[in-house]
Amino acid sequence: MTQRILIVGSGFAGMWSALGAARLLDKEGKSDSSIEVALIAPEPVLHVRPRLHEAAPARMTAPLLPVLEAAGVRYIQGSVKSILTDKSCVIAIDQAGEHITIAYDKLVLATGSKLFRPPLPGLHEHTFSIDQTDEASVLETHLARLIDLQETTSRNTIVVVGGGFTGLEIATELPERLRKIMGEKASFKIIIVERAQAIGPDLGPGPRPVIQKALDALGIECRLGSAVMSVDPDGIDIANGDRIDAKTVIWTGGMRASSLTEQISSNRDNLGRLRVTRDLRVGEVANVFAAGDVALAATDDKGNFALMSCQHAMNMGRFAGYNVAAELLNLPTLPYEQAFYVTCLDLGSWGAVYTEGWEREIKMEGNEAKALKKKIVTEWIYPPSPSRKAVFADADPLRIVVA
Ligand SMILES: Cc1cc2nc3c(=O)[nH]c(=O)nc-3n(C[C@H](O)[C@H](O)[C@H](O)COP(=O)(O)OP(=O)(O)OC[C@H]3O[C@@H](n4cnc5c(N)ncnc54)[C@H](O)[C@@H]3O)c2cc1C
Repeated sequence: MTQRILIVGSGFAGMWSALGAARLLDKEGKSDSSIEVALIAPEPVLHVRPRLHEAAPARMTAPLLPVLEAAGVRYIQGSVKSILTDKSCVIAIDQAGEHITIAYDKLVLATGSKLFRPPLPGLHEHTFSIDQTDEASVLETHLARLIDLQETTSRNTIVVVGGGFTGLEIATELPERLRKIMGEKASFKIIIVERAQAIGPDLGPGPRPVIQKALDALGIECRLGSAVMSVDPDGIDIANGDRIDAKTVIWTGGMRASSLTEQISSNRDNLGRLRVTRDLRVGEVANVFAAGDVALAATDDKGNFALMSCQHAMNMGRFAGYNVAAELLNLPTLPYEQAFYVTCLDLGSWGAVYTEGWEREIKMEGNEAKALKKKIVTEWIYPPSPSRKAVFADADPLRIVVA
């Protein structure tokens, strides 16, 4: 009887989990029909979320079928609604809207994350986001239509709520995008509204001077220590009583793990991520592994943990795929390890800043860092070329990728 490894999600973690599992089966001479690797996701594409602050976000996807076919992975179109770990099966809605039940022997949950939206008045109705491809496309359409509105302060003001990684990337990208839409002479104001007292609060002090230099050069204003109280079609109200009139408010208030994690275990962190063992197993649930934004995994023995990042998701995927197949083959699993950590923050037409280590020591800035960022987001994080040899070479968990 065929055994099944089921991967849920086709993001960075899901894609690499599937390829990693197929690679080990191939290496061990088990790529026959006795073990199937199947991946289920709503669409057979990789959404390149790190590029959603750029123009034309609908183009930031890459096809997955060629690479899955090359590796012998079966693709199932569907969205998982329930995970029944006691029955070792998932229930999904397929393309036709029908419920389907899929049994598994081993499961990897890799359903990623979604933007966190607190229940503030008007936030759901009146903010834009760049968290998912469709949401970024809605913002793109809105920006393109600004030129048709009467010129007012609120039309010409764009508020980005959140001065973290995503907020900084969209805010610094906007001047160039708006100039392309509204013309070189257009006058507009971009304001970052951040609750913390410092810009890039989670990035630490390391890259801050470079970030500030870029914001100053691009004319982006920051309102620090400012918590948003409510949003309406014409602007936002801040807790200190200030109001900013703006027809465009972009919310970037952090991410939360996919809600499917709630069906697996209550052992989760404050971002909803499942606490996993060093080999990415959900310790208290048999036959279930997790990778990417749904997993809280140690990256070393020094107390560092994976972030919700592409860089960690890709490598966790390779390890989870290897381990899930190793367990079926009665081979030892590998502890996930990713000691080297980098950040490369896009700062729009000013350039970028590249740091190394958890202290985020600046190694490159400006155009040099921008060239690296371009390589990362347009080449390194895309699916490998669809040849079996190339796929399996790239899927080796010991080939740590820094992106
Ligand atoms: C604007 C933006 C910029 C970013 N920039 C960077 C950056 O520069 N560097 C960096 O390292 N990270 C960056 N990130 C973070 C990075 O994109 C995520 O950490 C990464 O995508 C996580 O990968 P993942 O595979 O865990 O999840 P995702 O990429 O979110 O993929 C999840 C997958 O699961 C599927 N799925 C979800 N629910 C279901 C379901 N119920 N059933 C079946 N399938 C399901 C989805 O369709 C998707 O295919 C950025 C994120 C954003 C939004």
